[in-house]
Amino acid sequence: MYLDNQIVRRFMNNKYIRPRIKPIYPVYKLNDLLFRVGAQLGLTTEFEDPEGKLYELVSLLDGRELNEIIVAMKKKFADLTDEDIFEGLEILCNEDLIEEYEDYSKYDIDDRYLPNISYFSRFMKYGMNAYDIQKKINDSTILLLGLGGGGSNILTLLSGLGPKKIKIVDYDKVEKSNLGRQLIYKESDLGKLKVKVAVNALKEMNSTIEVEGYNQKIETSDDVLKYTDGVDLVICVIDEPPFIAQKTVNKAIVEAKVPCVFGASQVSRGRVFSVIPNITGCFDCLNIHYTLHDDKFVEQFVGFRNISFNPPTVAYAPAMYQLTAAIVDEAVRIITGYMEARSLGTQYEINYEDGSSFTHPSWSRYEKDCPTCGNGKTDKWEIFRYYDKK
Ligand SMILES: [Zn+2]
Repeated sequence: MYLDNQIVRRFMNNKYIRPRIKPIYPVYKLNDLLFRVGAQLGLTTEFEDPEGKLYELVSLLDGRELNEIIVAMKKKFADLTDEDIFEGLEILCNEDLIEEYEDYSKYDIDDRYLPNISYFSRFMKYGMNAYDIQKKINDSTILLLGLGGGGSNILTLLSGLGPKKIKIVDYDKVEKSNLGRQLIYKESDLGKLKVKVAVNALKEMNSTIEVEGYNQKIETSDDVLKYTDGVDLVICVIDEPPFIAQKTVNKAIVEAKVPCVFGASQVSRGRVFSVIPNITGCFDCLNIHYTLHDDKFVEQFVGFRNISFNPPTVAYAPAMYQLTAAIVDEAVRIITGYMEARSLGTQYEINYEDGSSFTHPSWSRYEKDCPTCGNGKTDKWEIFRYYDKK
């Protein structure tokens, strides 16, 4: 049976490879019959091993060559064949407990990223390399729109992930009322342009990242398109004016064919949704989706547009961190694929009150009807009329 298995063939064909138990997992015995790999709830595998053969194999999986492992196993258990040992390795592979030893020193990798790589290793199937995930981040260029409660904290998270280049766009100045949650700004920065302060702060946090800052208010999609050249992913955390900002950025990223993660905070919940142009539904597809599926959507939109609602800023730093962490993790998922993104064609909502999250019903791409990412006409949809009005 195992002869058909790709992983087993990999072991059979190359006995110089160095499989090891992922260093993130402890290995320990419960008694003479049982042992476990891993200790986290949901990430612990228990093995029944009355003869102690699998435990012995696991103990040898410390990064030494497969050749040596086979010799040592056979020395201890004379009846074992190579195939038996491959079968044992297959069991461990199927539980995602082993990886091939990598000498990271050969990659000249910045030590600050090693914990990221350990985290990614949890998600790697045998034969995948967590370093490749970090490398994809290190090779990427990100355009960050907005340096408020979202963007300023996102920038600190990005600094630890180390994209090749970050372009940041904002037009505001640092005010005292920002200091409760926009924690890259200091008292001595009051009155300075956020973009300038943020560029300098990023350089101090991670000098390996190329950074460009632009003092620009985003009012049209052309204001975004000026900066999308060479960009792998956009993060949009400008949410003023509500809906219109997202619609403007959406138009630009669809035209530029660059994926975008959008994030916005409400009162005690935040939302993240992502658009991959021409693959997932875009923001205007969402407008069409709501028009078709929610008979009060247009009325609510118009009602909201007709009032002048100027709420105080509702942004409590611990809540903002929940949202910005989710935004950046989505960005990493989209750039690297280390895990499936949670916000493609759906809105991923985080409830700050209890730390829970859920995804809204998904919406698809309306290729025929969407005026932005498809072949539709704007005037067919009443909703788009109210975006232009003001
Ligand atoms: Zn669309």
